[in-house]
Parts: sequence; C-alpha cells; structure tokens
Amino acid sequence: MEHPLAALPSVHEILRDPAFRAACGDLADPFRTRLVRRAVDSHRQALLEDPEERHEPGPLFSSILDQCIREAEALQTPSPRRVVNGTGVLIHTNLGRAPLGALVEALNESDLGGYTDLEWDPESQERGNRDLRLQRQLQLLTGAEAALVVNNCAAALMLALNTLASNKQVLVSRSELVEIGGSFRVPAIMEASGCRLREVGTTNKTNLRDFEEHVVPGSSVLLKVHQSNFVQRGFVERVSIDEMVALGRRLGVPVIEDNGSGLIANQYAALLQDEPRVLDSLDRGVDIVCCSADKLFGSIQAGILLGTAEHIEAMRRNPLYRVLRLDKVRLALLDRTLKLYLAGDAGSLPLWRLFHASLDELEARIAQLRLPKSGTRWLSVRSTPLQGRLGGGSNPEAVFESLGLELRHRELSAEALKRRFATRPVPIVGYVQQGCFYLDLRTCFPEDLPELQRALDELGGTGDALE
Ligand SMILES: *Cc1c(COP(=O)(O)O)cnc(C)c1O
Repeated sequence: MEHPLAALPSVHEILRDPAFRAACGDLADPFRTRLVRRAVDSHRQALLEDPEERHEPGPLFSSILDQCIREAEALQTPSPRRVVNGTGVLIHTNLGRAPLGALVEALNESDLGGYTDLEWDPESQERGNRDLRLQRQLQLLTGAEAALVVNNCAAALMLALNTLASNKQVLVSRSELVEIGGSFRVPAIMEASGCRLREVGTTNKTNLRDFEEHVVPGSSVLLKVHQSNFVQRGFVERVSIDEMVALGRRLGVPVIEDNGSGLIANQYAALLQDEPRVLDSLDRGVDIVCCSADKLFGSIQAGILLGTAEHIEAMRRNPLYRVLRLDKVRLALLDRTLKLYLAGDAGSLPLWRLFHASLDELEARIAQLRLPKSGTRWLSVRSTPLQGRLGGGSNPEAVFESLGLELRHRELSAEALKRRFATRPVPIVGYVQQGCFYLDLRTCFPEDLPELQRALDELGGTGDALE
C-alpha cells in the first residue's frame, strides 16, 4: 500500500503556482511560505488521521491550492468589510450594531496621525487624564455627578461590581440573571468580578421582601439588570428601581443598574415606550448605571458608567480600569458623538436617521431602483410593507412599519437567493420568511442603492438567458 502522504504536494509546488502568486498581491515571501505551509500541514494531519482513505495527487493539489488562494485573497480585503443591511434590524450585533456614518470623519479632523495630547495637560505640562473631557461631556448631557467610559457594557458592569462588590454578595432577582448573547451572562460576569451572586425571588416573581430578607448592610450590593431581549407576561412581579433605591438608602447599600441599551436621547423616549431610560434611573437615585454605547446611544463599542463621584472615582483607581480603558481612536469617535448630543442633534446620528426615515422616504428609495421586469429570471420583485426591529437586545417586541422588497426567482429557492446576496463582494443581508426572500430598505443607506441595483441586475439576467 502506498504511503498515506505520497499524494501530498510540496510547499514549493503551491508557491510556484501562477494563480496563487496572483492572489497573493503584495504579501511578502516569508508570509506566503508560512500560509502555504500551514495549509499543507493541516492536510498532512488529516491524511495521517485517516490512512485508509485513498487520495489522488491531482485533486489533493487543487484542494490545497484552492484553500491557499482563498486565504491569500481574504488577506487582501479590508476587514471588517462593508455589508448592506437589509434585515430591518437597526442594531444588528452580527453586523456591527449602530452604524457610524459621518462619525468616522472625526478621525481625520482630530489629526490622529501624529502625536496627541491624550494624557498630557499643556497648562501644567504634566500628565493629564485621558477621559476628563468625556466625563465633562457626559456630566453635562446626563446631569450625573461623574462618568467613566470603558471597553463595553460588560466591562462596565464588571468594573462596577469588582470595585463596589468584590468579596461582597450581590443581590439580583432570578428573573434578571439574563444572557444577552455572544457570551454575556450575568452570573458569569459576576463570578469573574470576584463577587458572590445571591439570587433572590423566583423566575417570575420577585418582591421587595426577597431583597430585604437577604441584604446585609455593609456587605451587599443591589443589582438590577434590564431584561433586554425577552419579556415576561402573566403572573409576574418585579421590584421597581424606586423600591430598590429606597432599600439601598435605608441600609447604606449601593444600587447598580445594568441598563444595557443606553437610551439617552430623550426625544426618542416617547417612541420607545418600554425602553428603560438612563436619565430616569439617575433621577431616581441609582448609584451607578451602566450601558452600551453602540446600541441606542448610536455610537461605537464602549461602555458608559454614570453615577456618584465617590463610586466613579473608586472605579477610576481600580487597576481593572487600566485594563478596560479606551484608546485615542475610540475616544475621538465618542467625543464626536457627544458633541452631537450636546448640540441637541442626536437625531442626526445614523441610527436615528434610519429609524426616522418615513415610509414616503423609503418608497422614494425603492423608486430609484429599476426593479427587474417579468421575462427575466426573476419571478417577481415587488415593494412590500415590512416590520423593522430595534435589535441589540432592546425592546424585543417593538416593531415598526417599514418597507422593502419581496424577491422571488425562477431558478433559486428563497434560501439560495439569500445565499447569493450574502456571498457577493459587498454582501447584502436579507431574510427569508414563508418561502420568500426579503430586503428591508429601512436599514439600507441611500449609498447602498447602487449595490442593490447591481445585485438585482446580475441575478436577474436578461429574458434571453431564460431560453
Ligand atoms: C447589551 C447588553 C449588555 C452587553 O453590552 P456590551 O456593550 O455588548 O458589552 C449588558 N447588559 C445588558 C442589559 C445589555 O442589554
């Protein structure tokens, strides 16, 4: 019997291949070699693990070559890559949550190419504080006594718990031990923060007495977590923020709230009725509120902490803050976002623009598209009312009117169509419902229309192609 590795091509054979060389672009030689070696090694491993399987040298060579070409090409494309969001989900975690739009221009304006005064104060010529400016902006915007910004909301909660509750017990209702998705689970974050979880109440009902029974003044913290991505109905009871704050005050125990979605722009509060509001929690006297900056706040990935100066300063001194703090690029983007908020212009954030586009505007967008006529490969492409969602774990049941395309193709199933759109050079992401493929125009930017048009033209073909 032939040696199982006899069919394996050499690294040099692949390196010499013209198609591979073309795919490599300006990838330097040592890295080309390493890329190929890794591909060959992984195939060698597979051959050794399955010695019974017979391999012909030709197909094996093509398969390794293909893999190398795909990897080399992938290295040339920017990442993350632009996609067209046709899902109708405004804050889509897999698609990067809130879109940044013109916020990214801040990167040019603040001249980040050279050195910056990130941590230097020209007045005193001494070391400055990298987020003092953000703190001032957030104080003005929210009225909070103090503020701090870290990597994301998970980090914010972790820093708050580690600072305020390390080696203490944290009381939280059993109905709020939530999983947000993407590995955020409240109990896991607590454990990693070094505090002891004390579940109180039951899955559906928790009342103030449940907290009162277990709270130990001096060695407890009360935590409220926004349920975010699910709702409970029926035989349900929850403890309000007011009650928790009153209990905390009475016993001298801090109250932390994980707000999650970060609704700060008050003008939208009315539209998003059930969404918890950051300012509301502060007004009610919560000691520390944390939220994400890339959900309803509409900016980059970050976590915002707001609350009393005493607690925020303790967090700033915590060595964990050094681990979780932001870099200059993200600080510049948040600075730009907060300027919009402070100008009373949060409505011009891309997220809120998409949210506010009227059905007439969406219709006008669709009217700009040349929809394929029957006689092409399309069975039908028609404009249809759809329902958009906020997403990002905010208000799971809130749907709002939207408009989009319903697409049917003679040769491709809805799932196949979805795949074709998703695998284009600029992926277009839609969804399948009851056997049809849909693209929601609410989450598409006007700049996305040419890309949609190209996809429709290319997938539709001409009438002749059908013959
Ligand atoms: C989304 C969410 C988080 C996680 O936020 P990240 O910024 O992704 O870390 C935490 N808590 C709640 C309640 C959330 O909704």
